[in-house]
Amino acid sequence: MKPSISLEQMEWMNSLPIRHYLPYTFDNGLEFEGFNAHCSGCEQGIEPNDLRGSLSLLNENRCLLTAKGFCEHCNGITCFNFILTADEHLHAEAVDMDVGGSVN
Ligand SMILES: [Zn+2]
Repeated sequence: MKPSISLEQMEWMNSLPIRHYLPYTFDNGLEFEGFNAHCSGCEQGIEPNDLRGSLSLLNENRCLLTAKGFCEHCNGITCFNFILTADEHLHAEAVDMDVGGSVN
């Protein structure tokens, strides 16, 4: 059987490990050090090195984390998209990303 690579895997390979951006320190001093990712397919933990994507600042105390985790157990990709808000405490809110058509 020919190995097939999905577009998601291509994107994943072309992204930087999310670790590259961490720990992220907000203006108010709160730090985001990463999160525990689990595969949506088989529930296994995803290695931090297998978590790739980007962290972009929305404003001084909010940033958007978009990451894809590659699971070496089932070869599946799980998307993690959330907005981190640093008020008194740091909290994360899951967001639905429109993955309709991606243009490069
Ligand atoms: Zn899995």
